[in-house]
Amino acid sequence: MHKRKKFILSEKEIPHQWYNVAAEMKNKPQPYINATTKEPIEAKDFYPLFSKEVSRQEVNQTDVWIDIPEPVREEYKVYRPSPLVRAYGLEKALDTPAHIYFKNESVSPVGSHKLNSALPQAYYNKIEGATNITTETGAGQWGAALAYATNVFDLELAVYMVRVSYEQKPYRRSMMQTWGAQVIASPSMSTKTGRKIITENPQYQGSLGTAISEAIELAIQTPNCKYALGSVLNHVSLHQTIIGLEAEKQMEMAEEYPDIVIGCFGGGSNFSGITFPFIRYNINGTKNTRFIAAEPSSCPKLTRGKFRYDYGDQAGFTPLIPMYTLGSQFTPSNIHAGGLRYHGAGSIVSQLMKDGYIEATDINQIDSFKAGVLFAQTEGIIPAPESNHAIAATIHEALKAKEEGTKKTILFNLSGHGLVDMASYDKYLSGDLVNYTLTEETIAKSRDLG
Ligand SMILES: *Cc1c(COP(=O)(O)O)cnc(C)c1O
Repeated sequence: MHKRKKFILSEKEIPHQWYNVAAEMKNKPQPYINATTKEPIEAKDFYPLFSKEVSRQEVNQTDVWIDIPEPVREEYKVYRPSPLVRAYGLEKALDTPAHIYFKNESVSPVGSHKLNSALPQAYYNKIEGATNITTETGAGQWGAALAYATNVFDLELAVYMVRVSYEQKPYRRSMMQTWGAQVIASPSMSTKTGRKIITENPQYQGSLGTAISEAIELAIQTPNCKYALGSVLNHVSLHQTIIGLEAEKQMEMAEEYPDIVIGCFGGGSNFSGITFPFIRYNINGTKNTRFIAAEPSSCPKLTRGKFRYDYGDQAGFTPLIPMYTLGSQFTPSNIHAGGLRYHGAGSIVSQLMKDGYIEATDINQIDSFKAGVLFAQTEGIIPAPESNHAIAATIHEALKAKEEGTKKTILFNLSGHGLVDMASYDKYLSGDLVNYTLTEETIAKSRDLG
């Protein structure tokens, strides 16, 4: 037995505003560019796709604080504030002088942080008169979150789900259907993009990029229909800052300040959420915290990608985004951390990385599960395969602190639980998981196209 310590805030302490780091960055992220006209994108260019409020948030580089609408804050109360936990069990197993804390976003009804952005996105669409929403989902977490949120705010939802996940992870599809959404395996025959891909390659397992293209195509063609995205974009990162803002108060309760903050990295939303409120103090020069993004070795956009303008999706429907990318044509291996299989990274996070505020590390599949199992055995919670990457990076830093004999305070974000991912754990436990190595040549093919 070891000590247990949780830091719990009351409902009253749920933040009333999100934090917009772009307003305080010295080097602002470069604008998105319209691929055809080569003109910078303005808020109104997003109006056909997103709610106006979210479109304005996307390009807002002036307001440091943005109000959380009261009905959204009310819905946050179902699962927020989320706990901050001192991981005494993990510390003991590692025999490390490091103090390890994790912010537990797995307590949301959908099991991940994604609901933090799904709720405001659904809400803004509703009050602006939309009736339908389309989206894509990789491993199913975003689709599940948006299904929950559209059910709360009474909207119809169609979800394009990457085919490999649709088949490997049927329970997330059932979750979406339970909350009333329609789920379609992507590539599908319901869009021009899908039909073209299936005709050329009937075996194609799908990718997030293709699913995004299909969802956008349907949204554009359907009246009163908007599209919603669960990662990568600035407004999503903005909504996720509620994680770090709460964590900041909770670290104060613990009378500590993190030396290192870690999050796993797909498109960057949970990483942005836990880190941006702390990066603030690095930007203003009062702290010197390290921020580590943990990405899979099989999809290494930050560690091996290139900073350039690229499309957010495979078919090129999105504007050009300035980001670290492996190329929009890159198809990652079928790793079990489906939520991390994205070729690029958000533009704010990319700029912060370029300016040296953020570091990245890559974790292979087997090490990620090994870390997840140790966490489950020491802290009780079975983490999402995505979150395992953050845990592996945390363990690495805690062992380094032990070697160096220094006390480090490490905070990581537990982005979700793995209870709907037990098929992946089965594979790991029976020794059937493999690591994927990527040659420089393979990466260069798509990465260096732009
Ligand atoms: C989607 C997801 C991720 C990756 O997405 P980010 O936008 O990079 O946060 C990580 N963890 C979980 C549990 C997810 O559902």
